[in-house]
This record gives sequence, structure tokens and C-alpha cells, in this order.
Amino acid sequence: MIIFERSCVRAFSLGTFWTFIANKVLGRIELELPKRGVMVVNAVIVDALAKDYGSFRALKGISFTVRQGEVFGLIGPNGAGKTTTLRIISTLLKPSSGNVHVFDFDVVRQGKEVRKIISYLPEDAGAHKDLKGIDYLRFMARFFASNTIELEGIVQRGIEIANLGDRIYDKVKTYSKGMTRRLLVARALMTEPRLAILDEPTSGLDVINAWEVRKVIRNFVAQGHTVLLSSHNMLEVEFTCDRIALINRGEIVESGTPKELKGKYNAQNIEEIFVEVVKCSATS
Ligand code: ATP
Repeated sequence: MIIFERSCVRAFSLGTFWTFIANKVLGRIELELPKRGVMVVNAVIVDALAKDYGSFRALKGISFTVRQGEVFGLIGPNGAGKTTTLRIISTLLKPSSGNVHVFDFDVVRQGKEVRKIISYLPEDAGAHKDLKGIDYLRFMARFFASNTIELEGIVQRGIEIANLGDRIYDKVKTYSKGMTRRLLVARALMTEPRLAILDEPTSGLDVINAWEVRKVIRNFVAQGHTVLLSSHNMLEVEFTCDRIALINRGEIVESGTPKELKGKYNAQNIEEIFVEVVKCSATS
């Protein structure tokens, strides 16, 4: 989000400014200009997205936007349609109907451009077990770096993000699940994608590892990047996400900031809101 207030203008570098102006002139950036002077760049626009698996409709025409510079959470129970949505945004799956744009690139017609600016971490991703952590990062960095200096820069960022200390020099097969996940999150973020798409980044992690991953995500966004993540853990998203959309059975049932939603439903947490919304939609 770009806010025309003094503090935020400082965070908006000159290079980014001219890129932004050029894109605006070319009509490649959509803006919302609410009354209070807040100008929003959309990182993702999902519009009436539907996905059928045979005769089963997994996504029933969902719409939402992710703003540049925020952590947006797609939150819902198992089978709600989170992975399907993230895979479509990542260009790995074709929609049945509807439109999806990532920084104004159409995911169907301009998949190549989209893949250059995103990074996708699947829920069930694994790393090569016989490689040392550092060698895995170096192996993956080679797909992105155009010279040795760039390569080492990417690997260094990966080491810092993974924060595994000396264990980065051990083989992945000796890692716990939490350590492997931290390595994979580092792999996804070390190339500094404009948009990181993380499917259940903290699923199955203990408190400490989940906290580490959440901290990494918040730091990444603080540097101006955008994160779209999914989670079925409705309690943790309040601490990670700026805005959320609750998804159930292929439909977005509610969206907003955690604070807004808690106020609207007079609820203590997102779980309470989800139960309330699903109960209401079942009886209406
Ligand atoms: P989870 O939290 O369990 O990963 P999810 O919210 O990510 O769930 P999806 O994996 O997107 O949900 O699945 C949405 C629905 O689509 C589910 O009912 C699932 O069974 C169905 N589905 C997903 N992939 C396929 C497929 N390849 N063929 C048929 N049905 C599928």
C-alpha cells in the first residue's frame, strides 16, 4: 500500500516511484483512491474465479484483491478451495472461468510474466534430502541468478532467512519438519519475489518454528514485498495477516482486517467469526 503521508513516502524509493509512474501512465496499475488519500496498488485481483474438477465445482466464483505490501490470508477449513486458488494464481492450474491478474498480468495469457515475479511454496513441498541445506539453497538459486555475485547474494539471503545456524551445513535428511519448512520458506523468499504465495506455511510446525516462520513473513513484507498465504489455523492468522478472506466450500464468506471482523461480529477471534458466518450462510 502506498500512503501519501510523510512517513510512508520515505519508504517509497525513487526507482520504485518512476516505475510506478511509468506503469500508471501505461495504465498497468489499478488504483483505488479512497477519500482519506490512501492509494492502493493491487498485487492480485481475483474476479469471479470458478474451478471445476469434472462435475465438482471446487471454486464457485470467488473474488478478492491482495494489496501490494501486505500479508493477505486465505483462511478456511480442509477442502475449502485454498490450494486450488493458490495454484491458479501461481499459473499451475487453469481456471474454469473468471479472471486472475498478478500485478496486472493475466495468469492465463501472461503466465510467463507472472512466473518471473512470483514464488510459490506448496503445502507438501520437500527439499532434496541428500543435499546439505546450503547446497539446496545454492542449487535453487542457480535458476534465478545471472552471475556468481548475484548467486551468492541470493544464497546469503536464504541462509539468513532460514536462520538454521550451523545446521545449514548438515544434510536435509537430518532436519526436523520445522527446520525443513524454514529452509523451504527461505527458498521461496530468498529471490525477493514481488509476490510470495505460501500454502499453509506453518502447517504442522511447533510453536517456536511457527513463530519463526511468521516473523520471517512479517520481515519480508516490511521490506515492501507482498505475501498471499493460506491457513486453516484461524487463531494464528490474526498475528500474521493484514487482511483475510474466509473461504468455505469454494465461496468467500467474509473478508476484511482481523480487527474489523472482530468488531463487526463482536468476537474474540477469527475462529468464532468463521463459525458464526458458516452458521448464518447455512441457515439463509
Ligand atoms: P486443505 O486445507 O485440506 O489443503 P484446501 O482448502 O486447500 O484444503 P483444495 O485442495 O483446494 O482445498 O480442494 C478443494 C476441493 O476440491 C476439495 O473438495 C478437494 O477434494 C477437491 N479437489 C482438489 N483437487 C482435486 C482434483 N485434482 N480432482 C478432484 N477434486 C479435487
